[in-house]
Amino acid sequence: MVATRTEVQEVQPISSHKNNYDLNFMRQKIFAYEKTIKDDFNIFKGDLLEREACSFVTSNMNAFLFGLISDSSVKAEIAWSLPYRLKERLHHFDLNKIANMDIDELTGIIKEKPALHRYPLNIAKYLKAAAELLISKYESNASNIWANGASAAEIVSRLEEFKGISHKKAALGSLLLVRDLGIDIKDKENINIAYDIHIRRICLRAGFCSQDTIEDVTMAGKRLLPEFPGRLTSSFWAIGRDICRPTNPLCSECPLDDVCEHNLSLGEDIHA
Ligand code: SF4
Repeated sequence: MVATRTEVQEVQPISSHKNNYDLNFMRQKIFAYEKTIKDDFNIFKGDLLEREACSFVTSNMNAFLFGLISDSSVKAEIAWSLPYRLKERLHHFDLNKIANMDIDELTGIIKEKPALHRYPLNIAKYLKAAAELLISKYESNASNIWANGASAAEIVSRLEEFKGISHKKAALGSLLLVRDLGIDIKDKENINIAYDIHIRRICLRAGFCSQDTIEDVTMAGKRLLPEFPGRLTSSFWAIGRDICRPTNPLCSECPLDDVCEHNLSLGEDIHA
């Protein structure tokens, strides 16, 4: 069975791990580290987004969805500013009008300097398709994707129906909804750790998984924190970016040092 989908699965211990360690001990270290990074990796807090752009994507759920779709191949702050900038350029944020726009026209508006995204044509196609799907299936309101107590499994599956949203992005989207927007999703066990370059590198080096596949990394997250694997995303991402770098990892500063297998020959090739 492929483990990237969000069914509840039996979680096996990391029996092949070279270091016998207590999972609770590891979690305590990670949670302590989580406190130190605070909001450094939260796009909606701090100074990464201008106030208006941030307010728009956190108050208008169609804008949130557009930001999530745009969050690829560009810095997060560029992606999550796009909905607000697009609204400024269009002088509206009307889904019906966006759905009926000519792709070349929408591409041209995204492409105007300074361009709103590195790949204007792709993003224009994704956003137009998103507007169409929101109108036809969600009464023109993205919050209906996660309304009425939808489970994480349902939310991820619904998000994946949108062009430009991979499983990784759908998992990120559900994490942002819970963590940053306060959406009450009960089955947090189905919110997976993100299959991100930094997280993949850590999982391989630490021995949490033996192969760099989305299935293995996802299952590693489920083993480490079965009740909410996605919670590990921010901490692992921060460790991967600042400590477990592709070359010269700073193991002595790493909260995983005590439990890590230190497979340092692995993961050098996993970088942006
Ligand atoms: S201890 Fe070293 S190799 Fe292991 S995750 Fe931390 S930085 Fe990476």
